[in-house]
Formats: sequence, structure tokens, C-alpha cells
Amino acid sequence: MAEKGLIVSVSGPSGVGKGTVLKRVAEMIEEKWPGKAAYSISATTRSPRPGETDGVEYHFRTKEEFEEMIEAGEIIEYDQYVGNYYGTPAAPIAAKVSEGKVVFCDITIEGSLALDRKFPDDVVTIMLLPPSYQELEARLKGRGTEDDAKVAARLAKAREEIARAGEFEYAVQNNEVEQAAQDIMKIIESEMLRTFRQKETIKNLE
Ligand code: 5GP
Repeated sequence: MAEKGLIVSVSGPSGVGKGTVLKRVAEMIEEKWPGKAAYSISATTRSPRPGETDGVEYHFRTKEEFEEMIEAGEIIEYDQYVGNYYGTPAAPIAAKVSEGKVVFCDITIEGSLALDRKFPDDVVTIMLLPPSYQELEARLKGRGTEDDAKVAARLAKAREEIARAGEFEYAVQNNEVEQAAQDIMKIIESEMLRTFRQKETIKNLE
């Protein structure tokens, strides 16, 4: 097991299944390296949805509090999404990486790319792709939470986002949760074998 951790930053269009796939990858990490899976808990100015708890899904903050965090340098990257701020708190993620953990970020495209620019060695960027645009449309409609105009807007946004896949290091297609999670595991396992993550192992070889 590498002594230095890794930030796995995953972006992709709304409805592609980031949350479900990452949950499965976290289970796989726990099977392979117990205690090593971690999530970055973002700060946001959006209101909690039913069932969400402050400090679990997000740190829910007012706009003023969020802006103070930015001023104080407590946020490594932030972006706006549907009129709200979302940002990654700096200190917890740095601590988790130094503990050798695999830290998952489910953040916007700009967020993933900003993280990668700041910490090129610590971050691996992955874009999660749908099986097809038709399937993405079916998934968005299946949620039943959006009217047709909103689904059409999300699909148009999905096309714009996927056009930027080339800015990511990896693209994984989510045809099926188990397969997508396994593909992400392969990426993580390779990243963990990078020499700079195994300096101590190499130095202390007897
Ligand atoms: P939701 O409100 O549905 O939980 O999230 C909306 C969007 O914000 C999602 O695309 C999610 O990936 C993104 N997001 C959540 N946290 C962060 C963050 O810390 N930074 C950035 N850049 N995006 C985030």
C-alpha cells in the first residue's frame, strides 16, 4: 500500500450516476485497503435536501460564511452551480492524502480541473460518461423530478460537458455500475503503484 494518498476527482453530466458508482468504488477500496476510503465533504450555499445533514453530505453555509472561507484561503477550489457556491475545504483533504487515503471528490468539471492544476501529483481526474445520450435522457426522465424543458436543458449541458472529456486524464463509461466501479478501481490501483507514492517502500527495501 502506497504511503501517500490520492484524490480521485470525478465529474460528469447530471444523471450519469457519479454518486452510485463512487459508493461502489469506496466499498471496493475498503475490501482491498481497509480504512483507506474517504470522501471530501464540500461546503455549499444550497439548502439541505430532506434527509441531508450538515457535516455529512455537505457543510451547509450561508453565502457570507462561504465568502469568508474563500477569503481565509480555506477552500482549494470552488464553482457555482445553479446559483449556489460549492467548494472543497482545503485542510481535511490535505490531511486525508497525507494519511494515505483515497479521497473521492464528486465535483464540477471546473472543480476537477482546478484541483488537478493545483495538485497535479495528488489528483487523478476522471470523467464519467453515460452509455449514450438516449440512455441519459431516459435516466433523467426516470428520476421524475424534472419537467421536459429541464431534461432538455440538462441534456444540452451534458453534450457541452462531454465535449470537454479530453481535458480529463481518464474517461469511464457507466454502462453498468459494477463495471464502471471496476474500471475506476483499475485507475486507482495503477496510480497507487506510481514510484513517488512508494518512496519509503523503495528506500527501505531490504
Ligand atoms: P448537488 O447540489 O446536486 O449535490 O450538486 C450539484 C453539483 O455540484 C454537482 O455537479 C456536484 O458534483 C457539484 N459539487 C459538489 N461539491 C462541489 C465542490 O466542492 N466543488 C465543485 N466545484 N463542485 C461541487
